[in-house]
Amino acid sequence: MRDAVQVSLPAPELPADPAGDDAAQRMRPIDTLLADRGELFQALFMGAPIAKAMVELNGHLLVANPMMCALTGRTAGELAGRHMDLFAHPDEPPVGDLGLVPAPGEPALDPNLLLDGERRLRRSDGTELWVVQSHEVVHHNNGTPQFVVLSLIDVTDRRRAEEDLVRRAFTDPLTGLPNRRALTDRLRHAVALSRRRGLQVGLVHLNIDRFKAVNETLGHEAGDLLLSQVADRLRWSTRVEDTAVRLGADEFLVVAEDVEDLDGLRALADRLLSVMDEPFLVAEREINLSASVGLTLGADTTPDDLLRQAQCALTSAKSDGSRARIEVYEGALSHGDIDQLQLETDLRHALDSEELRLFYQPIVALADETLLGYEALVRWQHPTRGLLPPAAFLAAAEDNRLTSKLGAWVLHRACTDAAAWPEDLRVHVNISARHLAEEGFSDLVADALELSGLAPERLELEITESTALFAAEATLHSVAVVTDHGVTLAIDDFGTGYSAITALHRLPLHTHSIDRSFVADVVTEPATAALVQGLLQLGRGMGLQVIAEGIEDLDQAEWLVAHGCAMAQGYAFGRPAPLPSPAEVLIGELTDAPAEETAGELLPEPALLPPVPRPRAEWMNRPHAPRASDDTGELATTGTLFDELADPDDD
Ligand code: C2E
Ligand code: MG
Ligand code: MG
Repeated sequence: MRDAVQVSLPAPELPADPAGDDAAQRMRPIDTLLADRGELFQALFMGAPIAKAMVELNGHLLVANPMMCALTGRTAGELAGRHMDLFAHPDEPPVGDLGLVPAPGEPALDPNLLLDGERRLRRSDGTELWVVQSHEVVHHNNGTPQFVVLSLIDVTDRRRAEEDLVRRAFTDPLTGLPNRRALTDRLRHAVALSRRRGLQVGLVHLNIDRFKAVNETLGHEAGDLLLSQVADRLRWSTRVEDTAVRLGADEFLVVAEDVEDLDGLRALADRLLSVMDEPFLVAEREINLSASVGLTLGADTTPDDLLRQAQCALTSAKSDGSRARIEVYEGALSHGDIDQLQLETDLRHALDSEELRLFYQPIVALADETLLGYEALVRWQHPTRGLLPPAAFLAAAEDNRLTSKLGAWVLHRACTDAAAWPEDLRVHVNISARHLAEEGFSDLVADALELSGLAPERLELEITESTALFAAEATLHSVAVVTDHGVTLAIDDFGTGYSAITALHRLPLHTHSIDRSFVADVVTEPATAALVQGLLQLGRGMGLQVIAEGIEDLDQAEWLVAHGCAMAQGYAFGRPAPLPSPAEVLIGELTDAPAEETAGELLPEPALLPPVPRPRAEWMNRPHAPRASDDTGELATTGTLFDELADPDDD
């Protein structure tokens, strides 16, 4: 095709145009042809069933036949005089960049003319057009090139059919996602690209838990609808550079390009799992699904090995019939990662299998030790590690979407428990910054109050000072909604973080707590004493209630009373303890109740109240009790109400 065909036309040489008019000059060969060979030109060119145009060597169109006009969607008048790059498709590389050179013996031609073969063009209406292009150079009698006859054969339909075949071969017909066959190619491409950028490719291999049950209960048609919806959610929640693939049945895989580290991949897996959390609606029924996940990542691993690793991780996520577990291929992990990941997996499980507990620690009026309420403090009754304090697992929850799940559990549990206490007792609940910033937080609080029946005034939310300082507008709004309903807000451990007074101004605060690290030294360290005095004054000046935390002995309590601190919390008044079990309360009631009442079955409903503060008399006469050596003194065992109340120094 690329060899110029010598077509010799016995037309006279063109005289130079005296006026030097370009367009007129271009039209001369056609006039000549029409004049000399009118019929032949009509038959071979104008009437040809193939799109043809006569083109100058520099790519400008001289004349186009009707087929060319029909193919390109332009009239002959629009085409005459225009350059061929008018047809170029914008998504194809510029022709000039292709480095095309004329075939040996061929004259210098515009590169557009040299593009023989199959190429993509654009019609006047912007639609795509596939053609097979060829060209023939027409020479003068003396052998100099005169113009080029360009032919375009429309192959759009064939091309579409081929593309359709290819697409079908690489697409899952049910979900429209790429299939397993497409995966190998994409994965190879992703590995090569990420390696070049010094990053890694991550795989998230998902398997829907108990999908078989959906098919069995609702039928295969419903199962198919469900899978399509799962596929849609996966498609929406991946980045453009990631590819979601359906591997078959209820298995999906997401190839994530350019992953920096495991945290990045885990964030993606969390996002994918969280979009599964919303119930699916199939055949007018709400279906809740979960998925198990295997993760792996690497840059120097072959695509086949990566796939094997992800499969292996998924298999271990599904072992022992577990659900909604994320497992990482071990080779992709450092030891620290393994511990952290195990913790997260276990914590996810803990939330579902009710291993979390709330302990309650009394808050008292310092002057007379009247019980004012309790702070709810979360604990994890770990199946193998025993009772864990919040410091052992809250960070793991912070790093992923467990925060809101855990926070919601704590809030609901605390409100429900507190609703059963006498009405003058309040409950304080710690809220993580991340949870507070989440959309729907104010609705969650409203739900917890409504479901439990707890009056909003009996709930105090404790936030940290950095939360207050860095809160975004949405958080401030959420807080405003909650406090408008009567819930109060406390700033916890003020002075241990950024200590920015501005933090106190940003939110509608009710209370601030003085951290136990200050209280511990308040009697012995003059500098700390001065600081605590300042904090107390600040609270008073701002009209805030102040709670001194961590009071362990009489000296501290007396110093704080003397300096005007109204409220307190600390081991001196009671350690955090679980609610007594109904059986424990019943035994207490039975033992205390007069015989006739027991006989008459007139026992009141047991009150599930946490430990009441230790009477002052119990510790007043034992000043300078050694302080608890560590933060978790009360946590060594699961402890009962009575253990928790026992003084560590008692024999
Ligand atoms: P916090 O809110 O400042 O809670 C007070 C902490 O001080 C509790 O530790 C409590 O056991 C301890 N404490 C109270 N009195 C004394 C004392 O006299 N001596 C000593 N040595 N310690 C005392 P815990 O339960 O380990 O909680 C630690 C922190 O974990 C809490 O500090 C709070 O910031 C966070 N936390 C606890 N539960 C939750 C929760 O449900 N959600 C969130 N987001 N955070 C929580
Ligand atoms: Mg607190
Ligand atoms: Mg505190």
